[in-house]
Amino acid sequence: MPELPEVETVKNEILPYIIGRTITAITLLWEGIVKEPSPEEFCSGLSRQKIMDISRRGKYMVVTLSGGEYLIIHLKMTGSLIVQKTTDEPPRFIRAIIHLDDGNSVFFRDPRKFGAMRLVRDKDRIIGKLGPEPLEDDFTSEILAERLSKRKAPMKALLCEQSLVAGIGSMYADEALFATGIHPLRLPESLSRKEIELLYRAIREILWAAIENKGASVNTYFRPGGSEGTAHYEFKVAHRGGQPCLVCSTPVKRIVVRGRGSYFCSKCQPP
Ligand SMILES: [Zn+2]
Repeated sequence: MPELPEVETVKNEILPYIIGRTITAITLLWEGIVKEPSPEEFCSGLSRQKIMDISRRGKYMVVTLSGGEYLIIHLKMTGSLIVQKTTDEPPRFIRAIIHLDDGNSVFFRDPRKFGAMRLVRDKDRIIGKLGPEPLEDDFTSEILAERLSKRKAPMKALLCEQSLVAGIGSMYADEALFATGIHPLRLPESLSRKEIELLYRAIREILWAAIENKGASVNTYFRPGGSEGTAHYEFKVAHRGGQPCLVCSTPVKRIVVRGRGSYFCSKCQPP
């Protein structure tokens, strides 16, 4: 599933193709990708709007339009945005096409159909409840400690909770917990202040490194040019079930924590 580094990469790489362009038309190949307003209103509301900006908040992309509205895109499990000439053979599993005025189109590819697009005037209704951005300067280990102190749930589940910290999902939560030796089922109250400080640093280092590597292509994630990211080559535990831990050679375990497959080393991350 695309997480903060993947969405940041898509946002960065799609930006030069779309800023300043006018949307000429929308083709919906699967109407369910539009969550609001109705598919008809979505298509008519977007056409002839100029794209002024694109930013990321958590795992959402927010496209600012000339009419004062926002196109909010979530890639969910298997979504990618691919830019290519409208006339070229479209990639497989395309659910929507945003046609631009320079002959390029943005193709929303989404094999499993969990992706979502919204056209809204009030973006905070969608993104306003997200927790802090982990890579912003104003996100500190004190803020992380304070937010964790109110909660009683396994650390793996909490790190994936978008209202606690925005943008982290299963892969980078597993990596951050491994880097700090924290078992995914530990509760926040069991963490020392030192462990939270190390976790805070690990989250930031791991996310920055994954952005440098243009995201992780574990399942179906592609960059807007169609190529893959390489962040998954750096994974120590995520999606490495049964393989030896790179530190101690113990086979990496997989357990399910609150519905999420979670990878960890039982020796490096004791309960
Ligand atoms: Zn280990």
